[in-house]
Amino acid sequence: MQQILIASHCLLNTAAKLKRFDQEEIESEEALRRRVLKEAIDRGVQIVQLPCPEFLLYGSRRWGHTYDQFNNAFFKDKCREVLTPVLLQIREYLDNPQEFELLGVLGIDGSPSCGVKYTCRAMWGGEFSGRDVSPVLAQCKLEEGSGVMMEVLKEMLEENGIDLPIEGLFAPEAERIMALLDGKAK
Ligand code: SF4
Repeated sequence: MQQILIASHCLLNTAAKLKRFDQEEIESEEALRRRVLKEAIDRGVQIVQLPCPEFLLYGSRRWGHTYDQFNNAFFKDKCREVLTPVLLQIREYLDNPQEFELLGVLGIDGSPSCGVKYTCRAMWGGEFSGRDVSPVLAQCKLEEGSGVMMEVLKEMLEENGIDLPIEGLFAPEAERIMALLDGKAK
């Protein structure tokens, strides 16, 4: 029996992330990312990598965005398109329960796309020039709720009658994340 985790793209490939500057936040997320990966490898857990919608749409030099910017029909449609092959993989694994156990989905909390329990919210938009953007940037808050791609993934799983535990990588709640590997998040 092989155990499988479905994970956000940047759990395996941080090169897809946008350039970040908060060193403390980077280090705490990186420590948990390595802990999860090491544990998964040591236990022989296989990892299916979700696509990174932001990299696919905006490349490596993108600005940071918020949930509210991505919460539109075009972004959601792209998410659905890139998630379709993953959904087929999930269905194939679930159709063969004697061979495979799906442990769940691991997203990245705080992300406007891959957040699970937390995402970042602000009504951003418009030109940078011609205004003081500081008050606009200050609107951005970590709030409870999923990112846009995770919402689309949840919809797609529900449409297919699939119920999987879904957690988000979040350093302050490391033990909750590790429980996913134990199959205890079910
Ligand atoms: S969109 Fe998701 S996979 Fe891509 S960098 Fe952000 S959290 Fe990682």
